[in-house]
Amino acid sequence: MLTKRTPLGGVRGLLCAALWSLACAAESPALVETSRSRVPVEAAQPQARATPADDVARPVQALANSVDVTILSTSKAGIGEGEWGFSALVEVDGMRILFDTGAKRETVLRNAKAAGVDLGGVSSVVLSHHHDDHVGGLMRLRNSVASTAPDALKTVHVARGMFESRHVGGKRREVNEMLELRQTFEASGGVVLVHDEPSQIAPGVWVTGPVPRLHPEHNWGGGRQVRGPTGWVEDQLHESQALVIDTEAGLLVVSGCGHAGIVNIATHARNTIREAPIHALGGFHLHRADSEHLAWTMEQLRALGLESFYGAHCTGKAAVREAAKHLPADQVAEVAVGWTLHL
Ligand SMILES: [Zn+2]
Ligand SMILES: [Zn+2]
Repeated sequence: MLTKRTPLGGVRGLLCAALWSLACAAESPALVETSRSRVPVEAAQPQARATPADDVARPVQALANSVDVTILSTSKAGIGEGEWGFSALVEVDGMRILFDTGAKRETVLRNAKAAGVDLGGVSSVVLSHHHDDHVGGLMRLRNSVASTAPDALKTVHVARGMFESRHVGGKRREVNEMLELRQTFEASGGVVLVHDEPSQIAPGVWVTGPVPRLHPEHNWGGGRQVRGPTGWVEDQLHESQALVIDTEAGLLVVSGCGHAGIVNIATHARNTIREAPIHALGGFHLHRADSEHLAWTMEQLRALGLESFYGAHCTGKAAVREAAKHLPADQVAEVAVGWTLHL
């Protein structure tokens, strides 16, 4: 069940583990700030990496008890400014992780201030893939906390393939900004961890690593080439990964652009982390999908146990409408900057 918090508050007190609350900060910024102050600010430390698994269901490991996700970059803005990009602050049992960093250098910084979010206590950043609209704010954010909190935003988790060379249109100019960005980030004392497989980076918090493309989803725009074993080939963004939080209510899948396809991502999460209901949040790159593909996507997701769908960034309104055919009205929405979802 999805509940929009009212300016008078009070809804939070009704929450239970399986109840989503969504707060639009445009309507109640003070309430969001007040509720945020209850979240202890602690650094998320990377844990030992999980044992490799080849799409085999694992026994239940650590479960997250409380999850809050605050949107800091997407097209629609409840507060601050909107942009073509994605970023969200994910708070899990007091640990704080920044997922993606928006497109423009300043957007997430400004929107965090507008939402009353202090990024000084966030140690880990998860980057979904190399595209500019997800990594553009990284160094600006890191520099913004360098003098007061040098360990903040210090560890970046990416998937294998993030630093492969990319070209556009057969030209030899490098377009993968992550190559240069990595050098600058590491020169600032930052640490980059590259994941080949699903890894538990904190109790109940997983990065998927590269996602097997088991289903025929083509959720990328094309136009870039990557160097393969036999030469330059179409870039299918094999480094595209999601963040998955394992909770009693199911797996919360946080996606940046979802270039691997949300059905592939959900399948991979259930095969490698736990067979549990799916709650999907973020960008799913369905904004150019035709009605047939949208219908197929939602049917597949429902078969995988989809229980809520909160689209942002490149998801598209049509995909949200399609999801609404399958889900209760309070479990589906297009989210905006400043909204906080609580699980
Ligand atoms: Zn992308
Ligand atoms: Zn994107």
